[in-house]
Amino acid sequence: MGYTYDHENIFAKILRGEIPNDTVLETEHSLAFNDIAPQSPVHVLVIPKGPYVTWDHFIDAASDAEIADYHRAMRQVIDKLGLSPGEDGQGYRVIVNSGAAGVQEVMHLHTHICSGRDLGRMIP
Ligand code: 5GP
Repeated sequence: MGYTYDHENIFAKILRGEIPNDTVLETEHSLAFNDIAPQSPVHVLVIPKGPYVTWDHFIDAASDAEIADYHRAMRQVIDKLGLSPGEDGQGYRVIVNSGAAGVQEVMHLHTHICSGRDLGRMIP
């Protein structure tokens, strides 16, 4: 698959409990917590508990149960924070930065869920 997971990355340390986090919700295979430097009033990160570097790595290497759990965890965050436009929420944006072009800083897969302001056409 071409990926080497660095077990010392900051999200691995969060998963091991070595660094505190502001948890939004936790599922069997996933953890959602508030970003330490929020770019919008709502800025939640959702990570799988397994050692996956990027989204493509995750899809290649994770079990169907992990993949389903991860996406359902995102849905649960949107539900918990009342963001779904279909439920009269204000909407949200889901972002997955991957690799150099995506300017991924933490090399453990994470999905940003942003809301709470007009996000414009792109997030810088
Ligand atoms: P990336 O650029 O890799 O997609 O985003 C990494 C995100 O992780 C950034 O939004 C950054 O603020 C967040 N982040 C980095 N270190 C920590 C941390 O220790 N705790 C939390 N909660 N978020 C972090």
